[in-house]
Amino acid sequence: MIDRARVVVIGGGIGGCSILYWLARLGWSDVALVERSELTSGSTFHSAGLVGQLRNSLALTQMMMNSVDLYRTLGEEVDLETGWREVGSLRLASSNEHMEELERQAAWAETFGLPLHLISADEAQSMFPPMSTEGVRGAALLPSDGYVDPSQLTLALARGARQRGATILTNTRVTGVRVEDNRVRAVETDQGTIECEYVVNAGGIYAHEIGLLAGVHVPLVAMAHQYAITKPTGLSRDMPTLRDPARLVYFRAESGGLVMGGYERNPSVWGLGGIASDFNSRLLEPDWDRFAPLFEAAISRVPELADAEIVTLINGPEAFTPDGEFILGESAVAGFWVAAGFCAHGIAGSGGMGKLMAEWIIDGQPSLDAWALDSRRFGPQYRSRQYTLIRTDEIYATYYDVKYPGHERQAGRPLKVSAVNARHRDLGAAFGEKSGWERVNWYEGNADAGDESTRPDGWAGMLWSPAIGAEHRACRESAALFDESSFSKLDVSGADAAQFLERLCANGVARRVGAVTYTQLLNPRGGVECDLTVTRLADDRFRLVTGTAFGNHDGAWIRQHLDDDSVLVEDVTSKYACFALWGPRAREILQPLTESDLSHEVFGYMSAKEINVGAVPCLAVRVTFVGELGWELYCPSEYALGLWDSLMAAGAPHGMVPGGYRAIESLRLEKGYRVWGSDVTTTDSPFEAGLGFAVKMKKGEFIGRDALERAGEPTRRLACLVLDEPRSLVLGSEPVRFEGRALGRVTSGGYGYSVQSSIAYAYLPAQLVVAGTRVSVGVFGRDVGAEVMAEPLFDPENARVRA
Ligand SMILES: Cc1cc2nc3c(=O)[nH]c(=O)nc-3n(C[C@H](O)[C@H](O)[C@H](O)COP(=O)(O)OP(=O)(O)OC[C@H]3O[C@@H](n4cnc5c(N)ncnc54)[C@H](O)[C@@H]3O)c2cc1C
Repeated sequence: MIDRARVVVIGGGIGGCSILYWLARLGWSDVALVERSELTSGSTFHSAGLVGQLRNSLALTQMMMNSVDLYRTLGEEVDLETGWREVGSLRLASSNEHMEELERQAAWAETFGLPLHLISADEAQSMFPPMSTEGVRGAALLPSDGYVDPSQLTLALARGARQRGATILTNTRVTGVRVEDNRVRAVETDQGTIECEYVVNAGGIYAHEIGLLAGVHVPLVAMAHQYAITKPTGLSRDMPTLRDPARLVYFRAESGGLVMGGYERNPSVWGLGGIASDFNSRLLEPDWDRFAPLFEAAISRVPELADAEIVTLINGPEAFTPDGEFILGESAVAGFWVAAGFCAHGIAGSGGMGKLMAEWIIDGQPSLDAWALDSRRFGPQYRSRQYTLIRTDEIYATYYDVKYPGHERQAGRPLKVSAVNARHRDLGAAFGEKSGWERVNWYEGNADAGDESTRPDGWAGMLWSPAIGAEHRACRESAALFDESSFSKLDVSGADAAQFLERLCANGVARRVGAVTYTQLLNPRGGVECDLTVTRLADDRFRLVTGTAFGNHDGAWIRQHLDDDSVLVEDVTSKYACFALWGPRAREILQPLTESDLSHEVFGYMSAKEINVGAVPCLAVRVTFVGELGWELYCPSEYALGLWDSLMAAGAPHGMVPGGYRAIESLRLEKGYRVWGSDVTTTDSPFEAGLGFAVKMKKGEFIGRDALERAGEPTRRLACLVLDEPRSLVLGSEPVRFEGRALGRVTSGGYGYSVQSSIAYAYLPAQLVVAGTRVSVGVFGRDVGAEVMAEPLFDPENARVRA
């Protein structure tokens, strides 16, 4: 037993051991791991061990590729066999939609630098002889995928960590986490107390209960996951692994037989009420009834399974999360970190995950953009086990399904609704969901005014309505009213608030009361952590407005930098509704409703004032995300209905319509307004992202400034492209090729109804970001010509915004 370590990792599965290994490998040897039983005795020992790398984003795929890089060499490094077999993987397309999905994935892989070849059904069968080619339209071969022995791999990581000085304590159960002043101080175990600066909760399915010891909710549930192992029939163990998403099943070779598992449509949650304290090295009872439909589907792909002898049906619990991605990062308790919820790809992901976590702990941020995995993406609604369960259940049951762009999840809805939700429904709203909020995508009532001939080709046209174009045009020609109540609002107040924010923001925000500033908050590497507007409400009070999904993250980033309690950060999202009235006629519509002077001279662009709209007190903020004249009107929530009704009534004679988020997306693309999380991430600098105008290098010190200075001129920049075919829309991550070579990847795109063009944004080498450069974009296996454009495409003089 030890009484002190810099970091204590809880959990001796693949996750905990990988984090320990990487902490030690990156130079922190004063680290310890505590495991209540033996290493690998949680979910790890019963894993099927498949390692697939392709995910839907660069960062996630890169993390998986880092795993494979490690697995290739680890055995030799620590002198222990890991069972790594780089046999490749096959992913079958046995429907048209799955073939289209493969074409899309092949394009992603190209930009991620991951080898992937599209091959025929016969070629696939020559590599995986027992499969039938019935209905197979094609397959993707990923030669660097494979499988591994999960327990051996974990033991090898543990040995690698020990060799670098880390301590591993088995049969040591964590019974408490000591937290003082909201900071972790020690972990208490049944063998004694270990003082520490950091705790990493890598407790797998037990991570929820371990989190509670520190007062932290980890939103995951255990799902019973099953696979069968067949008796050897002489199959080669060097066959690639095989996935057939249309049949919801996967296979790999195992000692001359097969492992066959899958994702049932009727998932089975386990241990929701608590997990037995001795549930280690144990499995659940096989559930043949639940497995039968999968097994039948598997037989239709691998007919010899019908006669195969099943040696065993493994049924083991695995931690799944409400969106199917890992939960990583520091919690609201300083020093208490989480790395759990691996959703049946913990073996594939852990090698890279351990590296990411170790970098994050040691350097303060990881080298990859971890937003998709960041624990701060979950709001307080996930404290509910029941809500967590229904969201997770949906993810599990639809794991292998093709998700079209614009696909909306259904489980657990509606949860958070705007004060004028009933009005939206009456207007025929097509609702989407973001972070639990019901938000209007478009109003079907506007569809008649739209143009069906602008429907995009292919997938982009599936979940689409002519109403989107109608709302877009109304906003450009007259006005549109958008409900933005879900936007996250954070109030930062206190005597030192101005000084505090100046240290965090790259732009100058400590300006006159009423000034509105668009700014980024950078990390020490100069990457963009937050992208928001700051309104100075008083000498000692600022309102920060950020995206619906980003409030938790941005609030945590800001709080993390508080030195003491002289500055208060408060999430006031629920207090205020927000309606954005934008369009050339916005002033004509709003002016008669208020006694305040809305003229440009008195109420200039990027300024805010308290005004009354009728009897409703509003903070009117003259900003835009669509490139038109107008105001965001923030009112206390109880006034929202009255404000909405009076704005709708006042706008109607001017041709104003209510508009949804899909119209906003199209409008913002034409104006080149960036979206954090896709166009701009934690690994992009504001200069690379074309946001240099919002950086005041000369204002004095701010976080990230030194890194920007060191970086000098960017070698890559975000470029605006217009495709030659207006109906061919990009969906994200498509390759952008110059002279046949993929040099960039689409960050976002869509149709601009005013410029009548298919627009895409992509980072390209800086020398190519010159108007007129010809490139091509890979859209569903076709190369579509495109041109780099001068930005923005619409109203480059910004005349409308400043009208
Ligand atoms: C049937 C099945 C098949 C799978 N197939 C694959 C696959 O093919 N590919 C893939 O990538 N993934 C697969 N997975 C998923 C993979 O096995 C997991 O994601 C991974 O093993 C989880 O590792 P972990 O370290 O998070 O958790 P675990 O391995 O569960 O480790 C957590 C550890 O924490 C310990 N612990 C809990 N409470 C305490 C406490 N209070 N004090 C100290 N220690 C504590 C536990 O004893 C446990 O050892 C599969 C999972 C299942 C169930």
